[in-house]
Amino acid sequence: MPNSYSPEQIIRPEILALSAYHVPAATGMIKLDAMENPYPLPSALRDDIARLAESAPINRYPDASAAALKAILRQNLEITDDMEILLGNGSDEIIQIIAMAIAKPGAVLMSVEPAFVMFRMIATFANIQYIGVPLQKDFALDTEAMLAAIEKNRPAVIFLAYPNNPTGNLFDAAAILRIIQAAPGIVVIDEAYNAFAEASFKNQLGTYPNLLLMRTLSKSGLAGLRLGLLIGKTEWIAQLEKLRLPYNIGIMTQLIAEKVLHHTDVLSAQAETIKSERAKLNAFLGTMRNIEVYPSKANFILFRVPAASQIFHMLKQRKILIKNLDGTHPLLKDCLRVTVGTPDENVQFCAALHASLTETV
Ligand SMILES: *Cc1c(COP(=O)(O)O)cnc(C)c1O
Repeated sequence: MPNSYSPEQIIRPEILALSAYHVPAATGMIKLDAMENPYPLPSALRDDIARLAESAPINRYPDASAAALKAILRQNLEITDDMEILLGNGSDEIIQIIAMAIAKPGAVLMSVEPAFVMFRMIATFANIQYIGVPLQKDFALDTEAMLAAIEKNRPAVIFLAYPNNPTGNLFDAAAILRIIQAAPGIVVIDEAYNAFAEASFKNQLGTYPNLLLMRTLSKSGLAGLRLGLLIGKTEWIAQLEKLRLPYNIGIMTQLIAEKVLHHTDVLSAQAETIKSERAKLNAFLGTMRNIEVYPSKANFILFRVPAASQIFHMLKQRKILIKNLDGTHPLLKDCLRVTVGTPDENVQFCAALHASLTETV
């Protein structure tokens, strides 16, 4: 076929230039890299799930509107009648839906840097311009820079994670409100780590029609199910709903999420344990010389060590997988991010970190 195109001839150059999102192999490792909840569900609940799997009509398409699942979400999150819910195959899919919806020529998607990498990547997928406003050195919002960038670029959408990933901090709420008020388009507050944060913009939803709130079940214990949600005024959600593929939430996700959401006490108890382990891990890291620890309201901790990339590899050799952020952004030089694991995993991580640091000096 002499006249056929090569991939280079038909794939957009910005896609050719991307490297695929890398998920490292983790077999045999203590996995503290992806903000997963380390605890399984109690066995009684897993038995219930087994029975759901047994009787689920998997020969049929799932309920396209996921009505029962939405009803329990509405109840649990106390979502008022003037708000709608959009469900995504993870919140990643919701980011993608929003990006596709706004992808007019010249449209801008704005966030901060460093932030959740999918904001930037998905902007590229959707062929829209991404602008990342640098955070301050302590990872606080640079409010004035943000307001100036909003004025200059008129973004269709601003994404802010609250708490932020990979830094773990909550941005100043008053600064976020100023951004919401100044934004000409929508502002999506991404509360992926809400289970650990003790802070939320949920009560502001009624006040600001351009505010949308994104949540996910991934970080609180159901990462394998893939379920994210966006809450906001009907005028926005109804438009975004048009872009949602009809059966994006599979039947097993619908059934299992619905079941688990009737037992949120289980997930809350696990989140409480993770929070107390976070405090212990934070205290341990604080005792070590040469480590700078950043305060976290999420289920992970960011810290800075000399020769971070070397420490990362030494941990890996000790079968401990965390996230190396060194080299991903100037503000993250020599930074590593560890997910809070079980008490035993955390003890092993601490011992391995101590040993690795001792070996390098
Ligand atoms: C992990 C994460 C998500 C993605 O969650 P999924 O629902 O699993 O797609 C979204 N936003 C932030 C800030 C995250 O850290």
